[in-house]
Amino acid sequence: MNFALPLFGLLFAIGLLGGCGNRGSEAIEQQFIAFGTLVNVSIFGVDEALAQQGIAAVEKEFNQLHRDWHAWEPGPLVDLNRALAERGTAEVPAVLLPLLEPAQRLSEQTGGLFNPAMGKLIALWGFQSDEPLLAPPDKDAIAELVARHPSMADLHLDGTHLTTTNRAVQLDFGAFAKGVAIDRAIEQLQALGITNAIVNAGGDLRAIGRHGDRPWRIGIRNPRGPGVLAVIEPADDESIFTSGDYERGFDHNGHHYHHILDPRSGYPATGAISATVIHANAGVADAAATALMVAGAQDWVRIARELNLRHVMLIDSNGIVHMTPAMAKRVHIELEPSPPIELSEVL
Ligand code: AMP
Ligand code: MG
Repeated sequence: MNFALPLFGLLFAIGLLGGCGNRGSEAIEQQFIAFGTLVNVSIFGVDEALAQQGIAAVEKEFNQLHRDWHAWEPGPLVDLNRALAERGTAEVPAVLLPLLEPAQRLSEQTGGLFNPAMGKLIALWGFQSDEPLLAPPDKDAIAELVARHPSMADLHLDGTHLTTTNRAVQLDFGAFAKGVAIDRAIEQLQALGITNAIVNAGGDLRAIGRHGDRPWRIGIRNPRGPGVLAVIEPADDESIFTSGDYERGFDHNGHHYHHILDPRSGYPATGAISATVIHANAGVADAAATALMVAGAQDWVRIARELNLRHVMLIDSNGIVHMTPAMAKRVHIELEPSPPIELSEVL
């Protein structure tokens, strides 16, 4: 989740809009809450009735997926996790199959840095709850879970029959599900013949088409202050996802503990403060942004390569903006003075 918003909305929100846009050339927008975040649907170039039909379809889809994929409220995923823990085997309900296989592949490609099998660790840190912890969990409890190495590679799917060789595996798709849901939502809109739209969940989004005679414009939040770090104009059908250490977490003794955990240490990742990915597929962009946060400034190029990413921007704890050359061509830095920028080799 992050704070990227379609820029026209953002400018309006922070009072910088110079003059009013042409009436009649504005997107039809609506918001609702799902996946614990504000989902904004913007549709351009169709009549109000079709736009409302699209928005209703997206909202229905999100609400269904929210119930089907929730990691701690009673439902199919909680049942599956209980069966895996108790028996080491489970029947996978149809609604979870579309998450499982892609998540397994992405986890493998990231060398396990994207690890949706470590639900126990995520729960231990209090991130399977709406209430943050007041202090970090017991270090021995963290070490014990890390030593059990829950991994997507421990899971074996035969048709719908799932077995695990590791009883510590508990699935939590919090780093991935929103992306897949956005892909589904865009499919709903396309099925209705809508070709210009953005589905934006808490700042992570997929954009199709254009905003009339100009591209959509997306503001990427400054991870260490108010306002916008950069602006990206998505091409027709691109997803933009950002993971950051400012999104969820808690402070204890002057230290910030955030929600993106390094499966190797069991502690919040330390190598980056935000990671932004542009990719055709929202699910891939979502998992990738999380994995790149874990990889950090030292290792992100390797992971980007494994995932076949072209467009990555990562900000390290010194405020240095690391980018692929392809990303540098797409990003307009808005922050003044501009932060230092380091380009990677061509990916
Ligand atoms: P995101 O905002 O997409 O980066 O996802 C963060 C959420 O994914 C967290 O709130 C956890 O539920 C979960 N998570 C945290 N660390 C990881 C990780 N290394 N791999 C997979 N999921 C994670
Ligand atoms: Mg993610």
